[in-house]
Amino acid sequence: MKMEQIEKVRIESMRHLGFGPQVMKRLKICGNCGEPVPADKLFCRECGAPLPKMTLYQSYSARHKVCQACSIVVSDSSLYCPQCGGIIL
Ligand SMILES: [Zn+2]
Ligand SMILES: [Zn+2]
Repeated sequence: MKMEQIEKVRIESMRHLGFGPQVMKRLKICGNCGEPVPADKLFCRECGAPLPKMTLYQSYSARHKVCQACSIVVSDSSLYCPQCGGIIL
């Protein structure tokens, strides 16, 4: 999967839908067309391509820092969680 697609979808999602960790854990992103699809699906509903095993949350949190307290993904430069104010390790 292309990381630019993940980033693009994440920003779009945040902007339009307000995806939090609970939503991200239930979504996968099609590596072929970038469509967000439910995590229990095996194939993309848009293009039919096989979907990755990792959810949007897993693939994103693997590359970025995560707040231990409320599990939201934060930017790598964050020192404090924007949601709960906790210190990011
Ligand atoms: Zn697709
Ligand atoms: Zn937090």
